[in-house]
Amino acid sequence: MKKHNFSAGPAILAPEVLNKASSAVIDLDGIGLSLIEISHRSKEFIAIMDEACQLALELSSLEGKGYKALFLQGGASMQFLMTAYNLLENKAGYINTGTWSVKAIKEAKLLGEVIELASSKDQNFNYIPKNVAINDNLDYVHITTNNTIFGTQFKFLPETSVPLVADMSSDIFSRTLDYSKFSLVYAGAQKNLGPAGATLVLIKETLFDVVSRQIPSMLNYKIYAEKDSMFNTPPVFAVYATMLNMRWIKAQGGLSAVGDKNSIKANMIYSEIDRNSKFKGFASIEDRSEMNATFNLINEEEGIVFDSLWQSAGISGLKGHRSVGGYRASIYNALPLDSIELLIDCMQAFENKG
Ligand code: PMP
Repeated sequence: MKKHNFSAGPAILAPEVLNKASSAVIDLDGIGLSLIEISHRSKEFIAIMDEACQLALELSSLEGKGYKALFLQGGASMQFLMTAYNLLENKAGYINTGTWSVKAIKEAKLLGEVIELASSKDQNFNYIPKNVAINDNLDYVHITTNNTIFGTQFKFLPETSVPLVADMSSDIFSRTLDYSKFSLVYAGAQKNLGPAGATLVLIKETLFDVVSRQIPSMLNYKIYAEKDSMFNTPPVFAVYATMLNMRWIKAQGGLSAVGDKNSIKANMIYSEIDRNSKFKGFASIEDRSEMNATFNLINEEEGIVFDSLWQSAGISGLKGHRSVGGYRASIYNALPLDSIELLIDCMQAFENKG
């Protein structure tokens, strides 16, 4: 039986995407060869990479606006370093909203001066700092749009004249957003975008050649852009499955359609958290993520009872990260409404047990 998958990442993908990707591993579109046994320089794979880059620009409405879509390896963690390597000449500003921002800051400090513009550490990262003052003498400002662990999400973008850089690993293509406000966006694929192994970067071409240091080829955005993400062998399976998933998002009606559905799912789960006498939400209400809903038991000792309820109902991946405890329902694009309904049923059954 297929489980109801609330995993934070790697995470749920639509059945259509999984079916098509798995058949391509045996035979890609009837060419008599597997997707993973053909050259990345073959015309078949070049067409896949082109379509993946094209779809990424199309979904973000960045076509014709001077941006490049790149597919890289190394995950979002490599981007913590790569962004600074390519953009940090003197000083950069970071808004610290949790574990992933902390890691991004640590890497950037290897390359230059980093200013923490604001932080929500004082309340275990359960909110997004507001009205952050940003000097215009910074090389860039970095934010984490969705904080996978803590379940908070930027609902507004900081107003700034300096380039805005965002780690969007856990909410890319989950809602309508003015992507042109960003100069660089990166995302490890394995949450809302595809399987682990591919990392999407959307970068404004004016950000090439802005630092004086020598950049190693494998860390240089411009080199990947000039080589159409084929400087070395790309992660072919991950790029293919991500491309299929972007086709799927487009077929759903694009970002506004998936965003509407995600809002409905998020409202359902948060309403139950607020209504149910056994639970409390973790994140402050106005900053609640529409991708990762974090919540705790009022009485932690009752965890065994609730855990056995949802586990026996066929739910998987609901345990919270150790820094927050409790539960985290990750409700990415591909999570169907009936999974949310089932979770709510379990929460209500738990409450009714008294
Ligand atoms: N940023 C965010 C917001 C994440 O959720 C994660 C992974 N959970 C990362 C960065 C790190 O991603 P990766 O494992 O691809 O390096």
